[in-house]
Amino acid sequence: MDILALNKITYGLFVLTAWDDKEKVNGCIVNTLMQVTVSPNSVALAVNKQNLTHDMIMNGKEFCASVISEKADFSIFQRFGMQSGRDVDKFDGYENVAKDSEGGIYVTENTNAYIHGKVINTVDLGTHTMFIAQIVDANILSDDTSMTYSYYHEHVKPKPVIEKAKQDENNEEAPAGKWVCKICGYVHEGEELSEDFICPWCKHPASDFEYVTV
Ligand code: FE
Repeated sequence: MDILALNKITYGLFVLTAWDDKEKVNGCIVNTLMQVTVSPNSVALAVNKQNLTHDMIMNGKEFCASVISEKADFSIFQRFGMQSGRDVDKFDGYENVAKDSEGGIYVTENTNAYIHGKVINTVDLGTHTMFIAQIVDANILSDDTSMTYSYYHEHVKPKPVIEKAKQDENNEEAPAGKWVCKICGYVHEGEELSEDFICPWCKHPASDFEYVTV
């Protein structure tokens, strides 16, 4: 078996937003959303339980998925994917949001559509919860092409920081090697990476890290 075959699956990228009755809004980046039925229109979505957005969807039973377009740069992934809503307010000072006719909050920056779902079923998948949701509102925001996960890896994700160290000939203090997350570029300093390590930025496991020497 070659598990890398799974990398050939195509995925979109979305800013997933949730809100509560105290006007608190949070969001994260997901690639696990797909339409599953037409009548009624419904989608399936899997969210890592470590994300605050997961808990807010569990409580509020609704979400918006804003479809990220190819115009988006790395900053939207940094804002929504590489920090936790438990530490910072990701929407503090962020004005690229709008409210739909059903009260759903979606992102308007470099997105081409939004889909507002109300949860009708959940499946416990261990690390993730799968939400099945009926669409209650949706609209197209632009004609820009949707960004795929592979486009993100090829064109948006910065090269690992280790590359910069390599280019700096005066950097005599650079360590022998580092572990770099292949998903988001996070660099873990040091020779050792434990098997149960979870990337603090993108929440992917140690198996998605590669050891890079300078
Ligand atoms: Fe990562």
